[in-house]
Amino acid sequence: MTKSSSSSSSQELTAHAEIPRGDLPFELSAEQMRSMADTLAARVIAHVDSLEGQPARAPLADAVERSRALRDAEPAAPEHGRSLEAAVAPLFEDWVHQSFNTAGPGYMAYMPAGGLFVSALADFVAAALNRYTGVWNASPLLVQLEANVLQWLRQWMGFPPSARGLLVSGGSMAMLGAVVTAREHALGERLRDGVLYTSRAAHACVGKAARTAGVLPDRVRLVDVDDRSRLRVDSLARAIDADGARGLVPFMVVSTAGTVGCGAVDPLDEIATLCAERCLWHHVDAAYGGFFMLLPELRETLAGLERADSLTLDPHKGLFLPYGSGALLVRDGELLRAAHDWHGEYLPELPPADMYNPCQYGPELSRPFRGLRLWLALQVHGAARFREALAHKRELALWAADALRASGRFDLLAPPALSLFAYRLRSPAGDEHAIDGATRALIERVNRRGRALLSGDVLGGRYYGRLNVLSFRTQRRHVERCVEDLIEEAGAA
Ligand SMILES: *Cc1c(COP(=O)(O)O)cnc(C)c1O
Repeated sequence: MTKSSSSSSSQELTAHAEIPRGDLPFELSAEQMRSMADTLAARVIAHVDSLEGQPARAPLADAVERSRALRDAEPAAPEHGRSLEAAVAPLFEDWVHQSFNTAGPGYMAYMPAGGLFVSALADFVAAALNRYTGVWNASPLLVQLEANVLQWLRQWMGFPPSARGLLVSGGSMAMLGAVVTAREHALGERLRDGVLYTSRAAHACVGKAARTAGVLPDRVRLVDVDDRSRLRVDSLARAIDADGARGLVPFMVVSTAGTVGCGAVDPLDEIATLCAERCLWHHVDAAYGGFFMLLPELRETLAGLERADSLTLDPHKGLFLPYGSGALLVRDGELLRAAHDWHGEYLPELPPADMYNPCQYGPELSRPFRGLRLWLALQVHGAARFREALAHKRELALWAADALRASGRFDLLAPPALSLFAYRLRSPAGDEHAIDGATRALIERVNRRGRALLSGDVLGGRYYGRLNVLSFRTQRRHVERCVEDLIEEAGAA
């Protein structure tokens, strides 16, 4: 016994002696920590500071070859460590640039956000503190910060104090939580008969969440939209009645406040009324549009949102946070808890009822301290700054829409309801199929110029370009350049 333990410890000593100098022990000296943090801070600051001059999209022509080469270069985990600087140099100098520049001011594709620097620091702090925020008892005051943040979101959305919520990684996870909650509340044993309704313009995460939550694929109805991509309430009512008459159980409607395709806002108030009449759960996917509730001038556009049974929000869109910030709010917080609560004897005792205990409101137990990135951003910048920025992004979108219309070269699907709109080339000849192709090619040419990055979508069977001003970094000059590129390339079409 003595012999073997002494021989194993001498082996350990020999092994340590062989470790090359680049290897770092896990426990670092204060000096080492400072040096590492300085190294990364310098890299990050130089990168963020140069965003203005970076292309909106790197040429991705050899992306597959490059990815394969990187795969082959690292067939196994490194046995020994090397310096931090050596490890991150290619990340900052090469890899990160082979990408859509989602942090840059020219990013007007898909759903821009930017990524607030303060929130990046908050993530660093949260991970370094490494406190446990899955259960209230483990770090009550840090969990309370999350509860405070959720409270602020709740107030902004006009939800009652009975609401509870959860900070999740994004809108897709919020959607899953909503479908599970509605299912548990409304279906019970009748899961197989449950029917969920959404519109053809809804985000793909609705179907995905329905499937994950056990709603059968043939029980998801994609309701017609009008010529502005808004869910048609008459079609919805007919579909609900038809399913009810067949003995099925219509249980949930998912409407959208700001569709991905063109930023359309469904008639939320009418849908809320219909859902109340037919006893259906109304979830509003406000992943993109929700934070426009902060702007008094958009309250009418978003009217009815505050009546929803549950709500998806994506702070990594409308609040400019780094990716990984979604939120679910449920009007009757007890129902969110009822759908997710499960107690293990190894866990600490449940806290007093008025304390927020995250693990009772979602599927996660261990989780990152998500609230800090939102809390710190609001502490440092203040809510007024967010309102002002959102109003400004909307103004820029309105300006761009007017400029494209005034050029005479574009047809708009609709004026921007929020900060996003869809357009296609105008052609007197009117061959719609040819215009689809020409618009697609136009977007590609604008993207190749590298000043802006745009994307498109098929709406009502026709291809449209999209322009979404949502990054806090996007200023007037960036939108002007983008519009200039669009008009010039349209002239070349
Ligand atoms: C972004 C978005 C989603 C999906 O959210 P993720 O954060 O990407 O998971 C869902 N619905 C809408 C309307 C969105 O804009």
